[in-house]
Amino acid sequence: MAKRDFYEVLGVSKSASQDEIKSAYRRLAKKYHPDLCKEENAEEKFKEVQEAYSVLGDESKRRQYDQFGSAAFSGGAGFGGGSSYSGGFSGFGGFDDIFDNIFSGFSGGGFTSGFGSESRSRKTRGSDLLKRVRLTFMEAVFGCDKDFDLDVMEKCDSCHGEGGFDSTTCKTCHGSGTVTQEQRTILGSFVTKTTCPDCHGEGKTFKKTCSVCKGRGQVKVHKTITVHIPSGVDDGNRLRVPGKGEASPNGGEPGDLYLEFAVENHSYFKRDEDDIYIEVPISIVDATLGAKIEIPTLSGNIKLTISAGTQNGEQQRIRGKGIYNESTGRTGNLYVIVKVIIPTKLSRSEKKLFESLAKEDLESNEIKKFTKFVKENDR
Ligand SMILES: [Zn+2]
Ligand SMILES: [Zn+2]
Repeated sequence: MAKRDFYEVLGVSKSASQDEIKSAYRRLAKKYHPDLCKEENAEEKFKEVQEAYSVLGDESKRRQYDQFGSAAFSGGAGFGGGSSYSGGFSGFGGFDDIFDNIFSGFSGGGFTSGFGSESRSRKTRGSDLLKRVRLTFMEAVFGCDKDFDLDVMEKCDSCHGEGGFDSTTCKTCHGSGTVTQEQRTILGSFVTKTTCPDCHGEGKTFKKTCSVCKGRGQVKVHKTITVHIPSGVDDGNRLRVPGKGEASPNGGEPGDLYLEFAVENHSYFKRDEDDIYIEVPISIVDATLGAKIEIPTLSGNIKLTISAGTQNGEQQRIRGKGIYNESTGRTGNLYVIVKVIIPTKLSRSEKKLFESLAKEDLESNEIKKFTKFVKENDR
């Protein structure tokens, strides 16, 4: 069978942004998820959507596809390919991870529908939630605790999470959670195993269903949770907070909450991963004669020696004065970049001093060499 165009599969244009592709994938994957979709060929369509997204969802693979077509990916390679995230944060993940969680139903060969389903329970996991969080530069550098108002699922107190009272073994499935049906056809007899309709795979039923949680075993509680944000998180990083996502529609595990950080800039400190850069303005006098100056670091001010003859743009590394990254246990460095400020306004006496300097032979070898070249060049 000829492969359909991946853009067509996802129903997006060739110029669609990565965000548009992501959301089209999200929508279609939900629509055709074999556990949810009763349509014929749902499984094929779901796989087709997966395959298209595994290519178009990855910018470099997408470029290859645009250039060479699906031939570049013969054999349907790239299924659930490795996450493109390259940072060291454990618990941070790309979109792949999120989708793995959203569709936990299909991990480990859970595609089986109909014949021989071994699944004991048909409970679905709640959806994952993504929240964007603004952090100041220092909050990201040092880490912080943030409060979030959320609806979270908690174990029902009244039934201790059971969903009911006085449980008895299900009479329909005798506790196995599944029922077998024999179907005779002209080809022979088939045995189909399906989730027990009476206990929904639990293997037990209650004499009395809990009225507080309506049998779910969990109740939705609106509360403030405090999340510790580790030091060293950076713009665009994600943090997974397990179990604080949306509730399951039928008493399953809740989804996870993902926090995505937007980190504000600082007026003086700049960062590159765990390293901090600071530009320090100094006068031409300090640059020429050398000086001891006070500079700011993340952990208070320190004295820095400017050696005589320091040039504009010179950089000094101060080991271990960067960001302590809680997730990797590493600490970055501080880089001080000297910016020599040439005066633009001089008082009369200053002007006199510079004029007397002009009479001195201050020119460096570099300038002398260049002056010589200029003369020679003019012949
Ligand atoms: Zn049963
Ligand atoms: Zn209850």
